[in-house]
Amino acid sequence: MTTQTKRNSTAEWQAQDRQHLHPFTDHAELGRVGAKVITRAEGTYLYDSDGNKILDAFAGLWCVNIGYGRKSIAEVAREQLLELPYYNTFFKTTHPPVAELSKLLVEMTPKQFNHVFYGLSGSDANDTIVRMVRTYWNLKKQPKKKTIISRWNGYHGSTMVAASLGGMNYMHELADLPLPGHSHIRQPYWYGEGKDMSPEDFGKAAAKALEDRILELGAENVAAFIGEPIQGAGGVIIPPATYWPEIQKICRKYDLLLIADEVICGFGRTGYMFASEYYNIEADFMTLAKGLTSGYMPLSAIMVADRVAEVLNSFGDFNHGFTYSGHPVSCAVAIENIRIIREEKLVENVRDVTGPYLAQRLAELQDHPLVGEVRSLGLMAAIELVQDKKTHKTFEPLGKTGTICRDHCVKNNLIMRATRDTMLLSPPLTWTRDHVDECIKLFRAALDSTAKDLGVK
Ligand SMILES: *Cc1c(COP(=O)(O)O)cnc(C)c1O
Repeated sequence: MTTQTKRNSTAEWQAQDRQHLHPFTDHAELGRVGAKVITRAEGTYLYDSDGNKILDAFAGLWCVNIGYGRKSIAEVAREQLLELPYYNTFFKTTHPPVAELSKLLVEMTPKQFNHVFYGLSGSDANDTIVRMVRTYWNLKKQPKKKTIISRWNGYHGSTMVAASLGGMNYMHELADLPLPGHSHIRQPYWYGEGKDMSPEDFGKAAAKALEDRILELGAENVAAFIGEPIQGAGGVIIPPATYWPEIQKICRKYDLLLIADEVICGFGRTGYMFASEYYNIEADFMTLAKGLTSGYMPLSAIMVADRVAEVLNSFGDFNHGFTYSGHPVSCAVAIENIRIIREEKLVENVRDVTGPYLAQRLAELQDHPLVGEVRSLGLMAAIELVQDKKTHKTFEPLGKTGTICRDHCVKNNLIMRATRDTMLLSPPLTWTRDHVDECIKLFRAALDSTAKDLGVK
């Protein structure tokens, strides 16, 4: 921070910031309440401009897997900035950090992935994948294969294409989305949409929606299917075990490319390095971002399966790329991030220790009058608040209760996120049992305050 910035007060920062456009923000409300000013972070705690110490149970935005304040990351970035701050990877050029990171990613990801392409965000990576999918089918002389099927309530980013892949109505409206060539099917959301069936039967039924849509559109017109192994922003929707094997089968049967968007799941969040391992998904593309650098620098990577890369590489130039594709500082940071994840055995710790412990502590919340369902895999969890625990009936208007609860969490110096009335957890993978205990304690207090506000006993 410059001395100038340091001298400012919360009110001054808020005043300077107020008129500007923020992502996913209601600006009228921002004007009324003022932005929260985060000034510093260490480990799993944030500090705001009023001196509050806040437990970050959301790892920034699902991304700070190794926690804040890692000095070795800063050192690696500094060295790279001095050695080679920038050079591009266009026109048959490369540099050591990008080459080394690619080797690492090939080694870590499932065996069909031996080719990497870099971007700066999950959104631009998914955008690039759509371009690769089109190129693939055009080169395969099946130019009619264009439509990409995805799910309602899926999230794939915010560019025009990524938001079209996504199934968020509130992102489509007013922007004339989705773009042509996108088609959405139901999500594998058992608690909300499948309670008359066993989870196993529901998983198959939700997958069958893909086959039905392919037959409706004609397989000769359908290019690919994209899905998050576990939906994140949509509310940590964990599909039944029967879902992904069916999806895989259907993609093979009708010759669709399969895209696993691992932007949140990747790099250990679920207790597996990639959720594709947990669900046994054999995808043609894998989208990586967030945990790839733990958010310390912007970077995304697309893993491209051999059978796709062979076709893409059979033609001359692939005329696509960003000035900062494979940025040397981002790549150097990603390498150090992966070293930390491996050396500290963060993934194994999530799978064997903190993940099961979080699940156990969350299960205790089931006795609360507001809690309909708790679900988690590794350190990715949801607590769904409902009006009627028996029928799963939600509150009306949907989203109000979640916002009340989220605001109580913030008051208690706990950052959690609310999607509709579902409270979401996605903490740094460095959490210990003590952090889990601290979080559950603060969260239960927020739940009690929410129940009191609503007059629920
Ligand atoms: C966050 C996210 C994206 C978009 O990534 P950005 O870096 O915000 O563009 C894409 N897919 C999933 C599953 C995400 O959670």
